[in-house]
Amino acid sequence: MSSLDGTAIDVVGGGFGGLSTACYLADAGADVRIIEKNEQMGGRASRLEAEGFRFDMGPSWYLMPDVFERFFGHFGTAPEDYYELERLDPHYRIFFKDGDQVDVPADRGQVKEIFESYEDGAGEAFDEYLEVSEQNYEIAMENFVYTDRPRLRDWIDLDVMKAAPIGLKLIGNMQGHVEDYFEHPKLQQIMQYTLVFLGGSPRNTPALYNMMGHVDFNLGVHYPERGIGSVVDAMVDLGDELGVEYVTDAPVAEITRRKNGFLLATEDGTEYNPDLVVSDADYAHTERELLPEHERQYSDDYFDSKTYAPSAFLMYWGVEGDVDELAHHTLVLPEDWDQHFSQIFDDPQWPDNPAYYLCVPSKTDETVVPDGDTDSYSNLFVLVPIAPGLDDGEEIRAEYREKVLDDIAENTGVELRDRIVFEEDFCVSDFAARYNSIQGTALGLAHTLKQTAILRPNHRSSAVDGLYYTGSFTTPGIGVPMCLISGEHTADAVIDDQT
Ligand SMILES: Cc1cc2nc3c(=O)[nH]c(=O)nc-3n(C[C@H](O)[C@H](O)[C@H](O)COP(=O)(O)OP(=O)(O)OC[C@H]3O[C@@H](n4cnc5c(N)ncnc54)[C@H](O)[C@@H]3O)c2cc1C
Repeated sequence: MSSLDGTAIDVVGGGFGGLSTACYLADAGADVRIIEKNEQMGGRASRLEAEGFRFDMGPSWYLMPDVFERFFGHFGTAPEDYYELERLDPHYRIFFKDGDQVDVPADRGQVKEIFESYEDGAGEAFDEYLEVSEQNYEIAMENFVYTDRPRLRDWIDLDVMKAAPIGLKLIGNMQGHVEDYFEHPKLQQIMQYTLVFLGGSPRNTPALYNMMGHVDFNLGVHYPERGIGSVVDAMVDLGDELGVEYVTDAPVAEITRRKNGFLLATEDGTEYNPDLVVSDADYAHTERELLPEHERQYSDDYFDSKTYAPSAFLMYWGVEGDVDELAHHTLVLPEDWDQHFSQIFDDPQWPDNPAYYLCVPSKTDETVVPDGDTDSYSNLFVLVPIAPGLDDGEEIRAEYREKVLDDIAENTGVELRDRIVFEEDFCVSDFAARYNSIQGTALGLAHTLKQTAILRPNHRSSAVDGLYYTGSFTTPGIGVPMCLISGEHTADAVIDDQT
């Protein structure tokens, strides 16, 4: 008998955090059901399919393949049992808005030469930077990421003490850390663009996250066959094999603690009575909108005072013809991007001179365009990070679309305006409506120093016995790999409490 045999657990929300938790709990013997608001599993990693085009609506960078191997390995399977991976080369292309352009290749030796070409000694500095980054990655993954430390007493541990000097050195910000190695602003940008994945800026993200350098340059940028949606499918299939039940189109409206277990009611009045509940829905939504007031852990002020990661203006475009100038991943960066970050975090407004990301999966995957015909069609989306909570009405979206099309033409040479045959956009209010996301943040709680590790909301509710949280608001944090690990932590907490 395993520890959870016969325990009925409902998971609210089928994003990566919910799917991961469900697999671990079902594997431990629980009867698990995921109740998802939308028409498909995957949450922020939803798929949009229309007129022969297929878009991953959210994540498109498959990073940290080691984490996926560990996840599937726990169940005696492997990612390649579900999907093939291709390492992208170049990892990405950057257009700097001063007319300069650089491809960042998969080969580290070549990257080193590129760094040296920008600044004498930067090749050597690149190696030194990555050595530190790799060490930090290994220490952080073992001691703080894979090991959950939800209580203060969990930090009084020999391994933590040994890692502490490094940790303390790294509580400065990423801007300062990168400046210690590279003077050239473009090299600083290359080392810092991954911070957008953490929902932060170079000035508000702790230097500890220099480990993203190891993630990028050593572990590599990969593409799963048929896109990130394949990873969602893989986890749903794995859950199926483990006995997880799925309910879609079922927004949960209420979670109430009963004498024995919970009452969980969906908007159409359907009632469920699990023994335990895990919520993968955004923390603020669960606390403020699903629980009665006396069962909340945090006040409105708590949520209002947090630093949220950016939202995004996304445009999904099916395009006629090719876009030779772009790579699978392309970044377009202004020379001075401080203004863009400041218009996200300090003085929220639509960015005057945006830094943005273009994704063209049709470079690698013919199944994302009609009839697999990549000679006739390209599949492309644009992501402009913007401040959460901004007004995103039709007028500003239309105006900004024109601005971005002009910017793409000017800086990459790709004229798209008369070639778009399918389009849809997604912005702040869509994040709020589709995912119940607070202020329409795309990613959740930013990884600022005050919102890292033990300072993120806990997996266990301190107000309601038997209620747990998972996903990107909790530890370890934002991003697909982190949400997979978050599921493991949440399941461990449930198993610990039940045995
Ligand atoms: C545009 C974009 C680009 C990104 N790019 C990358 C990337 O390249 N690489 C990467 O690793 N990460 C990336 N991320 C981050 C990554 O996608 C997220 O961190 C991760 O998918 C979040 O998973 P989650 O389970 O925490 O939340 P979610 O995916 O939001 O899942 C929560 C689920 O709860 C459901 N829900 C909410 N309220 C209710 C309710 N009342 N009842 C029932 N269900 C409810 C929601 O519908 C949703 O399905 C990106 C995110 C976005 C938005």
